[in-house]
Amino acid sequence: MKGAAAGQPGQVILVDYPEPVAQEQDIILSTTACGVCATDVKMVQKGAPDTRFALGHELTGKVIKASSTQVWKVGQRVAVAPYLPCDQCYYCKHGQPALCTHLYEISILPGGLVERVLVPSELARRGMFALPDELSDELAALAEPLGCVIKGLEDSHLQAGDSLVVIGDGPMGQLAAAAGKALGCSIVIMAGMTAHRLATAQGAFADRTVDISKDNLKDVVSEYTEKRGADVVLVTVSSGETLADGIGLVRPGGWVNSFAGVPDGTHIELDVRKLHYQQYHLTGSSGLAPHNMKKALELLHSNKVDFSRVITGRFVFPQVAEAVAYMEQRVGLKAMVTFS
Ligand SMILES: [Zn+2]
Ligand SMILES: [Zn+2]
Repeated sequence: MKGAAAGQPGQVILVDYPEPVAQEQDIILSTTACGVCATDVKMVQKGAPDTRFALGHELTGKVIKASSTQVWKVGQRVAVAPYLPCDQCYYCKHGQPALCTHLYEISILPGGLVERVLVPSELARRGMFALPDELSDELAALAEPLGCVIKGLEDSHLQAGDSLVVIGDGPMGQLAAAAGKALGCSIVIMAGMTAHRLATAQGAFADRTVDISKDNLKDVVSEYTEKRGADVVLVTVSSGETLADGIGLVRPGGWVNSFAGVPDGTHIELDVRKLHYQQYHLTGSSGLAPHNMKKALELLHSNKVDFSRVITGRFVFPQVAEAVAYMEQRVGLKAMVTFS
């Protein structure tokens, strides 16, 4: 079977993977859709020394092999988490499964941008979810990135009625604004610099979009929050400077979340007096746990906002190189690969 992997730096290669072999309780999926993530783009840019693992981790599939003793049936449509917390370690027992020390030990194999995927039994049991008939494969394939965003908002103690500022207008920023809307935020402000991306969010995900190359974000946030600042600021831009700007937008007692991965050695200067007296919270979020993905599927199914606006590039497997290039060129938002 064919799968897409990172080859030499800048190259996507098609690899002949052996057909997945399932042990008794494992599941095999025929992949139906898989989103391309910034992580995939980074892996392609860097190049990968070995191709054992394929690209892609935002997938849906159809069960083609299941054991008779399981709840799963052949033909069922599912979304599956790419990896699974162990449920046993210190962090899992402290309710922080995304920090699990064994997080990547149980995972889909060899990846998501492949024709067929092995789902180990434990992952099928705790990290795989049946799709409702009304939810399309490509929309359900947003459950993984949306789950990461939901985790970020939960880590930031977001409540219905809160004001949310999302910095960054890329796919994750869009999903964060959309999730904020769906979760009942009273006001969602999105800041970015790309006109077509801000236009996607305006009215659909964000009540107010701000082009920071033209307008002063702090003034806008102040205007919309009775000068308090935002309850939650989620920073989806990979920059220390942007995180520092985000801290300038939060209300006393609010939350700032460093959501984007940043390069090694990224530091900021922190006004410690402000931290002490204004008692705001500074946190970071990375990854997700199965319950975040379950919540994401609920939001996608609820139709409260039109999440499909985030999918702007559609490709059919094996056009993975084209999908990665589409993400790299930033001409749209999310690239989605479907399998015929
Ligand atoms: Zn991803
Ligand atoms: Zn664990």
